[in-house]
Amino acid sequence: FTALGIETSCDDTAVGIIRSDRNILGEAIKLQQEIHEPKGGVVPTLAMVYHQTFLPQVVKSALDNARLDVVRDIDVIAVTRGPGLAPCLSVGLNAAKTLAIVLGKPLIGVHHMEAHALTARLTNPELKFPFLVLLISGGHTLILLAHGINKYTQLATTLDDAIGEAFDKTARLLGLPWLKGRNGGPGAALEKFAAAGDPNRYQIPIPMTKEKRTKENPNMSFSGLKTSINILLEKENLDLRDFQVKRDVAAAFQATAIRHLSDKLNLAFDWCKERDLALNGLVASGGAASNKAIRTSLEKLAHDKYNIELICPPPHLCTDNGLMIAWAGIERYRVGLIDDYTINHIPKWPIEELGTISTASSS
Ligand code: ATP
Ligand code: FE
Repeated sequence: FTALGIETSCDDTAVGIIRSDRNILGEAIKLQQEIHEPKGGVVPTLAMVYHQTFLPQVVKSALDNARLDVVRDIDVIAVTRGPGLAPCLSVGLNAAKTLAIVLGKPLIGVHHMEAHALTARLTNPELKFPFLVLLISGGHTLILLAHGINKYTQLATTLDDAIGEAFDKTARLLGLPWLKGRNGGPGAALEKFAAAGDPNRYQIPIPMTKEKRTKENPNMSFSGLKTSINILLEKENLDLRDFQVKRDVAAAFQATAIRHLSDKLNLAFDWCKERDLALNGLVASGGAASNKAIRTSLEKLAHDKYNIELICPPPHLCTDNGLMIAWAGIERYRVGLIDDYTINHIPKWPIEELGTISTASSS
């Protein structure tokens, strides 16, 4: 069967069409970078207006791209139900509900972070539950134990900023121009500068290493990193007109963020080991998982230290896209998780609540 997935949780308007045998049939995406870059970040009400403006065209483009007829060829309509920006979610959800009810097709409301996680099962068909998941994106930094579809244990989260947010804020502090296009934005710009920088020229403290509780607490913290960069810039009176300074500060930030992630992942692996859990892999997904330095160090950690496979979707499937929603729709539909045509969005939605939330509108 074939699913059409709609994603409007943040600033990208994305639609993907995929078949249950993993055949990618078509997709379309409308980015809003040029709208939000001058504002310094995503403005929710503006993002909503642009979703309203472009979503119908993006749905049509994805269908045209796949050379499919929605009435004849699409079996399931999937859509991001949350978490995300409320005004933005509602645009996608209303479109999906209307399409589904009018065409008489099943509707699947998708948890955006479950979709990021399940993307690994799209790209790696042999990946079986349970596996460990690191979700690193603009709004989340999560370490999850994936038991099955709709069933996750959260081992860790960030106590403040998400890692992608820290990349974005640091890019802004350094005055970096956003990288254009898919897999662009401020985080990708920071990666580009860091790649040409010396991570050892400036020292930045690794978050949470001073606290004793860190030893058993796998939670993370990324707001202090941005503050450390701010302090560094002021204390050393760094000249940001010097591009090598920008590159070296970016490299120091990125290396420290990676150290922090690795420290905490080690604790999560310990947690699993204590419980004799036989993990089938480490999945890394979400926008920041498109970062090559992060991927390389995770690969090393998984392979060298834990002898486990790292499954990291290609960059264009790590950042927000419609295919991941369509695929999550397929996975959920297969196990009978169909939603009511009256469901509402859930802007704040802890992933552990999956499986406890009603499929109807009252939730
Ligand atoms: P969430 O998935 O938490 O709801 P989101 O959907 O807005 O957030 P994604 O599209 O999954 O986020 O990821 C976007 C985030 O990923 C941004 O914060 C961005 O800076 C970060 N990001 C993207 N590319 C890179 C990169 N190359 N290096 C580091 N961070 C990156
Ligand atoms: Fe996302």
